[in-house]
Amino acid sequence: VALRQADHPIPEFALIRAIDRRFSRRVPQLVRGIGDDAAVVAISPGTWWHLTTDLLVEGIHFDLNTAAPESIGYRAAVANLSDIAAMVAVPRYLLISLAAPKCLTAARIYQLYDGLMSACRLHGVSLIGGDTSESKAGLFLSITLIGMTKAQQALFRHGAHVGDRIYVTGTLGDSLAGLQLLMQGRETRSVQRQGARLRRSHRDALVNRHLHPTARLAEGLWLNRARLATAAIDVSDGLSGDLRHLCEESRVGAELDLDKVPISSACRSYAETRRLEPVQLALKGGEDYELLFTVPPPKQQALERQARTRGFRVTCIGTIRPRRFSIRMKGGDGTLRPIPLTSYEHFRR
Ligand code: ADP
Ligand code: MG
Repeated sequence: VALRQADHPIPEFALIRAIDRRFSRRVPQLVRGIGDDAAVVAISPGTWWHLTTDLLVEGIHFDLNTAAPESIGYRAAVANLSDIAAMVAVPRYLLISLAAPKCLTAARIYQLYDGLMSACRLHGVSLIGGDTSESKAGLFLSITLIGMTKAQQALFRHGAHVGDRIYVTGTLGDSLAGLQLLMQGRETRSVQRQGARLRRSHRDALVNRHLHPTARLAEGLWLNRARLATAAIDVSDGLSGDLRHLCEESRVGAELDLDKVPISSACRSYAETRRLEPVQLALKGGEDYELLFTVPPPKQQALERQARTRGFRVTCIGTIRPRRFSIRMKGGDGTLRPIPLTSYEHFRR
């Protein structure tokens, strides 16, 4: 089958849609196939199993010259744990496939696993398999994570309704700021001097957020039990892209209130020292691994009260609108503008 209509590549998300259209089939016991943070199958009574897989490629997702293997492993695990969190499921089993160049020492591979397993052990996830190969083109790491919920008790990208309020956990933009700091640290001394105004504690907080992100599993579990939300996705590609995914699957539009997007004080000071708009870091920055979810207005009060008593930070950043409204953001002056698609997409020119 000619996947690519012509002799040119197509962007990542169009490719996934094309694969879905051409090759997916409805089968019994499949609750959700392509199009969400995890696939869901109902193969044992009373339980839904959630399956997600992620591939990390040297030179695309990480750089072995700047990142320690331990942190690469940690981040790979969190990327998958976060997809399970977005389904409001509990992670259980892990498979790891590895293709490594001959020159990579066993010690570095153990460090990679140390990182992977330290992120997983926090949540009681067991390693149950994988695959190993030599690679002639750098390190590849593929992780498959299996989670579970009770049947009928998950959140999908497709549950949002017009009028629902849009919430996000934690703060956005920190991971991208941390990555930029790590990259600038390797560049010229003049750039380093420019960055000298950033407080050490802020720098460390941002870098740590990039190297050791947190999957919002506790928040996911709470959302599962509270039954107050209608849809959820994790912010792994950047708010602009992930909000778009949630809207596309729910067939709705959205109005994002830019002033409400939660930005940490560390990220704000970083943006100031670099003359950047902090909210641009939030729209564009991937790998924050916060949860983006929607809540009907009558349930907002209960949600915010429960979040407070549990010590979870949640912020209302907008409202779901009809599809024809499309996805727009309201600036400080009240004007509505289309959200720029600045988040990450593979194969995009
Ligand atoms: P996430 O960022 O949450 O990991 P992705 O954007 O990677 O999600 O994937 C979106 C959906 O597309 C998921 O359901 C995923 O399983 C599916 N998907 C991605 N790549 C492929 C592929 N090559 N073949 C089949 N399904 C894919
Ligand atoms: Mg996801």
